[in-house]
Amino acid sequence: MKISLIAHDKRKDDLVDFVTAYVHIFKQHELFATGTTGKRIAEATNLPIHRFQSGPLGGDQQIGAMIANNDMDMVIFFRDPLTAQPHEPDVSALLRLCDVYQVPLATNIGAAEIFIRGLERGDFQWRELNRK
Ligand code: PGA
Repeated sequence: MKISLIAHDKRKDDLVDFVTAYVHIFKQHELFATGTTGKRIAEATNLPIHRFQSGPLGGDQQIGAMIANNDMDMVIFFRDPLTAQPHEPDVSALLRLCDVYQVPLATNIGAAEIFIRGLERGDFQWRELNRK
């Protein structure tokens, strides 16, 4: 499965902790991330992660392009709902594309927990089959 990991600055610690807690599951998948998020997760976990540009410099759009190519299976995006983002249009576009292409999207730790347990059980394998 191809999984994208993104976190706004105030949520990066949460995402690093989350991926660290479930590293045994994440290591079985192909990981992608926006620049700074990917750097933080790679430093903490040593997982191989394909890093795109930082979010404000186009990273969200690069992940969106993968979604539009039907080449992404899941997005875990810990958003900061209390801080204005300079690249809000890019964030909205990414969320919209997840809905257009029926890509599972978790924007908080509660949803991400459910996703990760589904991943462990193989619940999302239909996406991979659909992608090929
Ligand atoms: P970053 O981008 O991982 O490079 O900080 C995330 C974002 O703000 O969209």
